[in-house]
Amino acid sequence: MPEAKTSQPLREQLRARLQQARRAHLVALGADLQHEDGLHLPNYSDTTDDDASVQTLNDTARAHVLHEQLSLSEIDAALAHLEQPDFDRCVACGESISPDRLLAQPTAVRCVGCQQAAEVHAAGSSAASMPIITSHCTREAP
Ligand SMILES: [Zn+2]
Repeated sequence: MPEAKTSQPLREQLRARLQQARRAHLVALGADLQHEDGLHLPNYSDTTDDDASVQTLNDTARAHVLHEQLSLSEIDAALAHLEQPDFDRCVACGESISPDRLLAQPTAVRCVGCQQAAEVHAAGSSAASMPIITSHCTREAP
């Protein structure tokens, strides 16, 4: 296979990092959901009579679980993307993503320039602090 000699070690390094991160997120998700009576979201209604506190604790637990699920989805997508011949190409402009960037951020699918442009675009919406996992913005102009 005429694959660049340097891409295979990078791919293997990225796969190892993604799998390590995946295991860590699975452990964290398990810790969030593991209770004496099985796997489920925690419910803090028995811990205090303060409804607002219960609501906040339950919302925080739910947000934490959603964060872990989102991270796992990103990692699974990155692992699948890694099997593509052009795994190190930016999905937006098609240029090579630097190995340093990929090693620092193995879920990256864009080059630095395109990622910054996407984040500026996303900053216009309320999702500015959310990771960008879609390959393009689907928001329609009002
Ligand atoms: Zn790009």
